[in-house]
Amino acid sequence: MSLPSFSDNVSRATLRAEALIDLDAISANVSRLKAHVQGRDVLAVVKADGYGHGIIQSARAARAGGASWLGVALIDEALHLREAGDTGPILSWLAVPGSPYAEAIAAGVELAAYSASQLDEIASAARQVGRRAGIHLKLDSGLGRGGATPDEWGHLVKGAAAAQESGAIEVTGVFSHLACADEPEHPSVKAQTIEFEAGVGQAVEVGLEPSHLHLANSAATLALPDTWLTMVRLGISLYGVSPFADGQSPVPLEPAMTLVARLALVKRVPTGHGISYGHTYTTTRASTLGLVPVGYADGIPRHASGRGEVFVRGQRFRIAGRVCMDQFVIDLGDAEAAAGDPVVIFGDPRRGEPSAHDWAVAADTIGYEIVTRIGPRVPRSYAGAVA
Ligand SMILES: *Cc1c(COP(=O)(O)O)cnc(C)c1O
Repeated sequence: MSLPSFSDNVSRATLRAEALIDLDAISANVSRLKAHVQGRDVLAVVKADGYGHGIIQSARAARAGGASWLGVALIDEALHLREAGDTGPILSWLAVPGSPYAEAIAAGVELAAYSASQLDEIASAARQVGRRAGIHLKLDSGLGRGGATPDEWGHLVKGAAAAQESGAIEVTGVFSHLACADEPEHPSVKAQTIEFEAGVGQAVEVGLEPSHLHLANSAATLALPDTWLTMVRLGISLYGVSPFADGQSPVPLEPAMTLVARLALVKRVPTGHGISYGHTYTTTRASTLGLVPVGYADGIPRHASGRGEVFVRGQRFRIAGRVCMDQFVIDLGDAEAAAGDPVVIFGDPRRGEPSAHDWAVAADTIGYEIVTRIGPRVPRSYAGAVA
C-alpha cells in the first residue's frame, strides 16, 4: 500500500502548521467497522467539530463509508450539519432547558430525552412546530452520567407513551452508554447490558416500539459483540484512534489526522544551554535546536513537556523543556535540519511518525483529547474522495 506523504504536501506550503485530514481514512474506518458489526446501523459521532477533524467533512466521509446516522452532542451542531446540506438521520443528545428544540424538530433532528420534564419541553415544542419529534429515550444503566435512572425510567416511558399517543413525539430509539467498555472484562459491562435490556422491556410493555436500540461506543463495538444491538455509535474509532489504553485495536484503524508544523528556526548552541521556561532541560553537549511553532494555544499539551516526540527528516526527536503557548523546542543533536522543514507532530505510526496515542501517553491523557483539542488557529486541509 502506498501511503500519502503528507509532509511533502506541507513543505510546498508557506504554512506554519496544518492538520491534514485524510477523509478516505474516515470512510474506510466506517466501512470496516460496519462489516465488523455485520452490517448493523452505524451512527457516526461527529460532535466537537468531528473530534477536531471538521464536522462537515467528517460527516460526509462517514456517510460515504456507510454510516446511516450522525450523532452530535449539541443541537447547534446538528443544525450546522443541516445547513451544510446533510439530509439524513441525525441524533442530538445533550441539551439544557430552553434549548432550540423547535428548530431541531423543524429540521428533522431527533432528540434524546433524559427526563420527564425534558420530554414535556420537547413535546410542547413539537406541538408548536406542528411536527412529530423523533425521540431516543436515554437510560442511565450505570454510567452515572446522563439519562434517567432505573427508578425514574418507568415514569419516563409512560410519559413518552402518552406523548406519542397524543401525536407530539415518536419514540424511535432507546439508548444508554457504557462506563467501562474500554475494559471489556469489567463487571459493569454485563450489569449495564442487563439493566438496558430490562429498560427496553419496560418501554415495550407500555406500547413503545423503538426501532433503534443502541449501547455501544467505539470500545464496545471493537470488543463486546453482546452490546451491538441494532446500532453502534462510533466516535474515536472513525478517526483512526484506539479507545483502548494500550493504543491497540482488534480491527485495523487508519489515523485520519496528521498534524504538521514547519521549523521556524534551527540554531547551534553550546553545551550547558538551558532550554525554554524554567530551564527544565539543559544541553549536555554542543547541539542543534529546532524551534517548532505550535504550542498549547494550538492544543499541544503542556503536560507533554519533555516527553512528547515529533518526526523530522525520518527521525524522532523529543521535546526539550517546556511546551509554551505558541512554540516548543526540540534538541536535534547533530542531525541535519533547516528552517522550513516539516515536523510531523503526530500522524501515522506506519510511517514511523508518533501517533495521537503516543502523545496521549506522553501527556497522561487519552487520544480523544489529543485530536479534539487541536485548536482553531491550526488550519485543516482535506484529502480524499469526498474532500
Ligand atoms: C461521544 C459519545 C460516543 C462516542 O464514543 P467513542 O468512544 O468516541 O466511540 C458515543 N455515545 C455517546 C452518548 C457519546 O457521548
